[in-house]
Amino acid sequence: MARVTKHTQAILDLLDEHYGTEYICYLNHENAWQLLIATILSAQCTDARVNIVTKDLFQKYTSVEAFANADLKELEQDIHATGFYHNKAKNIIACCKDLVEKFGGEVPSSMEDLTSLAGVGRKTANVIRGNIYHEPSVVVDTHVKRISRKLGLTKEEDPVKVEMELMKVLPKDHWILYNIQIITLGRQICKAPTPKCGECFLTQHCPDYQARSKAAGKRLNKAEKKGGAADKTKKKASGEETK
Ligand code: SF4
Repeated sequence: MARVTKHTQAILDLLDEHYGTEYICYLNHENAWQLLIATILSAQCTDARVNIVTKDLFQKYTSVEAFANADLKELEQDIHATGFYHNKAKNIIACCKDLVEKFGGEVPSSMEDLTSLAGVGRKTANVIRGNIYHEPSVVVDTHVKRISRKLGLTKEEDPVKVEMELMKVLPKDHWILYNIQIITLGRQICKAPTPKCGECFLTQHCPDYQARSKAAGKRLNKAEKKGGAADKTKKKASGEETK
């Protein structure tokens, strides 16, 4: 069970207060296999773009079998706009073949089965486990990794290590929610490379912000002292300096 510190709890309370506790999935889907394919497509691509592509894609390919039997070149063209389309098309076909051959066309729920599918890593597996099966999981994407480090909830760089560490510090009922809330924060306020800290409700609990403010304060002090000393020298030189 996670040991939730005051620092973590304060962050979670503010996230709940500002973003609510409703589960939202940013990738449009109507069932498990559509979410699986949308998640594969979302690598290095915005959810908004994936949603544009899947709108037509899911009308053209209406089942796991349809994707398993898709023509590689044609599928590449269909998903071209999401980038890395050679690999993604290859993975989608292989993954859907696995689903048909090993799981009767159904998307499995265990981490082991999900990660046995072609092109499916822990992140994708956790998206499915959280959104479809409501199994508590911490999905570590670029926002979650970057912002969790800023908030001092992890020092790790490797996404799997970040996931393990977050599972230790976050209460289980926030594993899915934390990801949803942090993605919203990352999109609206804590943007890379320049976060809009002036608009952020977490400044008091953000070690990254505190460290930057402290450093900026020191620089200002130094500059003021330097400016004061320069003024004194000028006045002295012009004979204005009085005792
Ligand atoms: S205070 Fe700034 S760096 Fe910290 S979470 Fe908010 S926006 Fe990000």
